[in-house]
Amino acid sequence: MKISHIEHLGIAVESIEEALPYYEQVLGLKCYNIETVEDQKVRTAFIKVGDVKLELLEPTSPESTIAKYLEKKGPGIHHLAFCIEDGVANALAEVEGAGIRLIDKAPRKGAENLNIAFLHPKSTQGILTELCEH
Ligand code: ZN
Repeated sequence: MKISHIEHLGIAVESIEEALPYYEQVLGLKCYNIETVEDQKVRTAFIKVGDVKLELLEPTSPESTIAKYLEKKGPGIHHLAFCIEDGVANALAEVEGAGIRLIDKAPRKGAENLNIAFLHPKSTQGILTELCEH
């Protein structure tokens, strides 16, 4: 697989409204989009930092995996997303062949209409890893 860059860092927050003033007023960054991803039960806010984005993730339901993450670990870095130049489906086959545990067996639609798939942190050195393509 060919990774071109870090697409974004996913950051779990209790509330986007409460988190944004830190990023915008203290760090001087700008949120350019907020959207809800229904099937993941999250609201996401996107902030650009050069070529990399920060994706703030707020749960929209107690069943959201982000709600469970916040309960266990509190707010913080939730996942790392790589941009895959030659396709997520290919990359999934490749990492599965290398013995990596997949959360998603096939790419699905994520925020910003990206094709995404997650790898399990138990087999990625402790970091929930997202592969994505535009
Ligand atoms: Zn993400």
